[in-house]
Amino acid sequence: MKLSHDHTAPADALARKGIAPVICYPVEGLARPDMAPFRAARAGWDKVAEVVVPAREARCWAVAAGQFFRITSIEGPQVGDLNLWAQADLRERFYSGKTRALHGTHLSTGDRMWSAFPFLRPMAVITDDSLDWYGFDAFGGAVHDVIGTRCDPYTHNLLSGGGQYHHCCHSNLTRALADWTGLSLHEAEGHVHDVLNVFMCTGFTRDTGQYFMKASPVRPGDYLEFFAEIDLVGGLSACPGGDCSAEHSSDAAACHPLLVEVFQPIAPPAGWVAPAVNGYDRSHGRP
Ligand SMILES: [Zn+2]
Repeated sequence: MKLSHDHTAPADALARKGIAPVICYPVEGLARPDMAPFRAARAGWDKVAEVVVPAREARCWAVAAGQFFRITSIEGPQVGDLNLWAQADLRERFYSGKTRALHGTHLSTGDRMWSAFPFLRPMAVITDDSLDWYGFDAFGGAVHDVIGTRCDPYTHNLLSGGGQYHHCCHSNLTRALADWTGLSLHEAEGHVHDVLNVFMCTGFTRDTGQYFMKASPVRPGDYLEFFAEIDLVGGLSACPGGDCSAEHSSDAAACHPLLVEVFQPIAPPAGWVAPAVNGYDRSHGRP
């Protein structure tokens, strides 16, 4: 946190601070998908599965490459913490940090969810976002971030002086993945990872750079929709923070379920090709 400083600014401080930034990862090399074929592929699709994620719980579901899935707010404002794993290998999981580096702090239509090293390929592409009108507000807040991690009982324990709370998204996702896979709780826990914060409205304070949240603008009927590029297991927690207007890691907030639906299109989007794993040879400079 940049709250104070111990050192006097050099004479050219203003000049140094005045240098214009450059984008770290110019994404011109990444073909941004043409969304029209994805939109067209929705015509006549069949709903093949549906999961209701209860408040303060998580559920897993399967979605095959070439299918869509949609997360919808029902009953009341609620944020969701999303994990993705490759069905073939749980080690291939969503990489929130690299996705943030490539697409920015908050995701919307056309952005992809990338998998961890050494796979680093698109797991899913966002095909529709009913909250795309929100953009960035006057506080610097926006929805669907990849800057937070997931609420968890360890940080809660640290900050609350020893509290034990069992319905943080981390624990919800751990139980859900254990139930889905048959792994033990502790084995499953190791596969839970930093999330896409679906519907959550967050940013960084301009003065101190602190992570903030505010009441989500989501209302029942709002949705975020994805196209699966590889065979996936999804995990979604209906965060105990509810709309995240005040706190999480407690049962104080009003919480609501979330709906997940999986759709099978009649035909894959025109021109879509399932992505191969990353092309780096993994020699790391040694023969
Ligand atoms: Zn949470």
